[in-house]
Amino acid sequence: MAWDFETDPQYQELLDWADAFVRDEVEPLDLAWPHQQFVPLNETRRKVVDPLKDEVRRRGLWATHLGPELGGQGHGQLKLALLNEILGRSQWAPIVFGCQAPDTGNAEIIAHYGTPEQKDRYLRPLLDGELFSSYSMTEPQGGADPTRFRTRAVRDGDNWVINGWKYFSSNAKTAAFLIVMVVTNPDVSPYQGMSMFLVPTDTPGVEIVRNVGLAGERLNEGSHALIHYGNVRVPAEALLGGEGQAFVIAQTRLGGGRIHHAMRTIGLARKALDMMCERALSRETAGSRLSEKQFVQGYIADSYAQLAQFRLFVLYTAWEIDKYNDYKKVRKDIAAVKVVLPTVLHDIAWRAMQVHGALGVTNEMPFMAMIHGAAALGLADGPTEVHKTTVARQVLRDHRPSDDMWPSQWIPRKQDAARAKFAEYLDLEVGNL
Ligand SMILES: Cc1cc2nc3c(=O)[nH]c(=O)nc-3n(C[C@H](O)[C@H](O)[C@H](O)COP(=O)(O)OP(=O)(O)OC[C@H]3O[C@@H](n4cnc5c(N)ncnc54)[C@H](O)[C@@H]3O)c2cc1C
Repeated sequence: MAWDFETDPQYQELLDWADAFVRDEVEPLDLAWPHQQFVPLNETRRKVVDPLKDEVRRRGLWATHLGPELGGQGHGQLKLALLNEILGRSQWAPIVFGCQAPDTGNAEIIAHYGTPEQKDRYLRPLLDGELFSSYSMTEPQGGADPTRFRTRAVRDGDNWVINGWKYFSSNAKTAAFLIVMVVTNPDVSPYQGMSMFLVPTDTPGVEIVRNVGLAGERLNEGSHALIHYGNVRVPAEALLGGEGQAFVIAQTRLGGGRIHHAMRTIGLARKALDMMCERALSRETAGSRLSEKQFVQGYIADSYAQLAQFRLFVLYTAWEIDKYNDYKKVRKDIAAVKVVLPTVLHDIAWRAMQVHGALGVTNEMPFMAMIHGAAALGLADGPTEVHKTTVARQVLRDHRPSDDMWPSQWIPRKQDAARAKFAEYLDLEVGNL
């Protein structure tokens, strides 16, 4: 009987420490330097942030997304989930703990597929938190369907020359290098004809044409780059993994990335629920507290139940990843978690916002940003619809069509079968009547 919902006491102590540390030391960074977490540290911010990172290292919680076999010091995905749900409350916390997206996923694929030289050059400084990276896959004419990608790399002696456009390469403007997915052989299926390259951002020909912002941000001051790759020349050693391996590598990267987003979302949704409860208990109107109104109680109960289901599903999926050590085997559940993630965050943040009245929709409270984040999470790492298709396909694999015109569970036929099975006893019963 191996089922157990308890965290081992030693790790729980670390989680309790992380919880207080994030609240007291890290969340204030979100207010002092909002949206600056991906900007390389200047001297002033380094004075504040480096000691915090050192403290996290001392506690053994730095960059725990990779296990020791991949050069990290992780304790597995389940423990990471428990930590990430604390870090999810704060923009800066993943940076202070060395496990921020998209760098975690990028580190993971370099750890899996990189050569020793690539690991020295890119993975080590990434894990040390000394540089940022960007994943450059989506193109302006297609994101959800990678078979539409056109950016091309052509072999020229010992080099590859890359030409094309990439869209929504998050954090490219502060990244030291890009992981670019390109067509290397247009004559075979895209699943065998694309490759990944590690390209330093300052390579001649890499041009950030626009830094696309999300709604609310100023034009061209966002974090999602439209990049033109114009005759970008990289050596053969820039190839990550084998030629034609991009799809396999992308699956490794996106599997981890999706579940890590989900882990952090638990923390954010819980923050919204906590705020909803505080407001409901604090505010009085029409003769009673908000917490005594049935509508508001419904919001709280629905949110609690939605979050509890989501959290257990995320933890279970993290446990599966640890158990099988193979994202492919857990694909159905990772996709299903990704499907429900935006709705859970949206619904809870929306109810919390509503309970706060006018204050809720202001930029003095975080609800609009959360709802906005939920919408973005319905697209980043693949749109919800595509993940639903994946879930359905995987679920259907475990089912068979009915052998004849009636469903297998058609009651009249099952009843006949049951009667035949127990005929001897049924006859006796009839006889006794
Ligand atoms: C905040 C954010 C960060 C991102 N960061 C990165 C990044 O760092 N690197 C990167 O490469 N990309 C990044 N992306 C891009 C993201 O991966 C794409 O937006 C996503 O894959 C969808 O591609 P698209 O935008 O081209 O939409 P499209 O592919 O044009 O799809 C548009 C819509 O069509 C519908 N649809 C598409 N396919 C199907 C289908 N098979 N079945 C049913 N309906 C379908 C869905 O409603 C979908 O939303 C980011 C996106 C966001 C929002």
